Amino acid sequence: QPLLGATEIRRLAEEIGVRPTKTLGQNFVIDGNTIRRIVTAANIDPEETVLEVGPGLGSLTLGLLDAAKHVVAVEIDPVLAAKLPETIAAFRPEKVGSIDVVLSDAMRVTELPAQPTALVANLPYNVAVPVVLHLLEHFPSLQHGLVMVQDEVADRMVAGPGSKTYGVPSVKGAWYSHMRKAGVIGMNVFWPAPKINSGLVGFTRHEPPATRASREEVFAVIDGAFAQRRKTLRAALAGWAGGAAQAETYLRQAGVDPSARGEVIDVAAFARIAEAKIPMTA
Ligand code: SAM
Repeated sequence: QPLLGATEIRRLAEEIGVRPTKTLGQNFVIDGNTIRRIVTAANIDPEETVLEVGPGLGSLTLGLLDAAKHVVAVEIDPVLAAKLPETIAAFRPEKVGSIDVVLSDAMRVTELPAQPTALVANLPYNVAVPVVLHLLEHFPSLQHGLVMVQDEVADRMVAGPGSKTYGVPSVKGAWYSHMRKAGVIGMNVFWPAPKINSGLVGFTRHEPPATRASREEVFAVIDGAFAQRRKTLRAALAGWAGGAAQAETYLRQAGVDPSARGEVIDVAAFARIAEAKIPMTA
C-alpha cells in the first residue's frame, strides 16, 4: 500500500494551511521506507489496537492502519485532528472505520475510546518522556511499543545504572518496562528537517519492583537523587528524608551505600529506599 511522501505531505499541509510549529514538535515524516521500518520494528499483531500520539498529517497512521486492527490517534492540534479522517478516506477508504481520532493533549488524556495494547508514535520531542510515562501509568492495557524521540533522549531512556546517560527517564522508564534502542533515524526523512538525529526506543511492559512503597513515593526518591546529580545519595536525599543522618539510615536499611550517587543504582534499589521510610505495621 502506498504511503505518504514529500509531495503528498506538502500538499496536505497546504490544503489546511499548516505551518509546522516547533512548540508542538511538528516534524512530519515524508519517507515511506522510514514508516515501514518503524512499523516493522513495532512488532504489531494484526489483532492489536494501537495508540498513536501526534498523528500529524497521517504518515505513520497509514502504516499503522495497514498493520493493526484498530488505531486510536491522539492529536493536540485541532486543524490536524480535523483533517486526519479526510486523509484516511482519501488514502485508505477501507480503513475509515478502523480509527478513532481524539483531540487531546497526550500528557493529560485519561480516557480513550478503545483499550490499546501498543503505543507507536513519532513523538513531539519536547514532551516525549512525560508523554510516555503518563501513558504507561494511565493505560495498563499498553503492553509494548515503539517510539521515535530525539536520539539523545532515546539513549537516556534505555540507559542502565552506571552509564553516563542514566537518569530520571531511565529509572522511571524501567519502573514500567524494559526499554531498548531500536535504531537511529536521520534528519532528512522529515519535513521540516530537525537539526538532530532521532532514535527509536522499543519497550515491553513488566511488573514494577515489588515494594510497599507507592509509585509516587518511589518517584519522589528518584527525583531527589537526580536533582543534584553530583551529590552523594546521603546528601541528595537529606531533604526527602528529613536530614542527612536519617537519609543514611534509610539507605543502609535499603542495602545502598550512602556515599554512592544516584546514577549507579537501579530502580529496585530506589524502591527499597522509598520503602525504608515507610513504618512497618503490625
Ligand atoms: N506522526 C506524524 C509523523 O510522523 O509525520 C507527526 C509527528 S510530529 C513529530 C508530532 C505530532 O504530535 C504533531 O502532529 C503535533 O501536533 C503533535 N503533538 C504535539 N504535542 C502533543 C501533545 N501534547 N499531545 C498530542 N499530540 C501532540
